[in-house]
Amino acid sequence: MPGFLSPLEGRALTEAAASAGSLGPIVEIGAYCGRSTLYLATGAAQAGALVVSIDHHRGSEEHQPGESHHDPTFWDAAAGQVDTLPALRGTLRRAGVEDQVIVCVGRSKAVAGVTSGPVGLVFIDGGHAMATALTDWRAWAGRIAPGGMLAIHDVHADPREGGRPPYVVFEMARASGLFDPVDAVGSLHRLRRLS
Ligand code: MG
Repeated sequence: MPGFLSPLEGRALTEAAASAGSLGPIVEIGAYCGRSTLYLATGAAQAGALVVSIDHHRGSEEHQPGESHHDPTFWDAAAGQVDTLPALRGTLRRAGVEDQVIVCVGRSKAVAGVTSGPVGLVFIDGGHAMATALTDWRAWAGRIAPGGMLAIHDVHADPREGGRPPYVVFEMARASGLFDPVDAVGSLHRLRRLS
């Protein structure tokens, strides 16, 4: 399956969703084709929670034509745009988890604006542009219930290993006084919301 999450990182996501699912739904920002969604759904099921998977499915900057992670498989010629929604639906259908995952096609801030209540876990793995990453953080971090978890993918302390925005968000979370870093698995950093 296409995607950018290692099996070790995936298992860490499953554990986090299982441990935080009793506190509220599991929110994923940036689904792409659903690899991380399945790992989250596995953990959520253990806790009896649902996954809310948010993605506009038009691809991040790096998925656009001519960019480093463009995949012509996901080009919607009629729209003249990337479209990963059919791939995500196929992933969920084949895994038999369509009823465990609420697919939200839209922007994370817009979805936050029309929903309310605490959530168990927020997984930030959306666009890596600074404005996008900061918007994901600002729109959703405050929704995490005390004892819940924040997971951020693609956090690289060394700028030569990856873009800065996920690392900046991680540093903001750490400096906020709202979260305690738990651990890092690959580039996936997990933090717990303090009460
Ligand atoms: Mg990622």
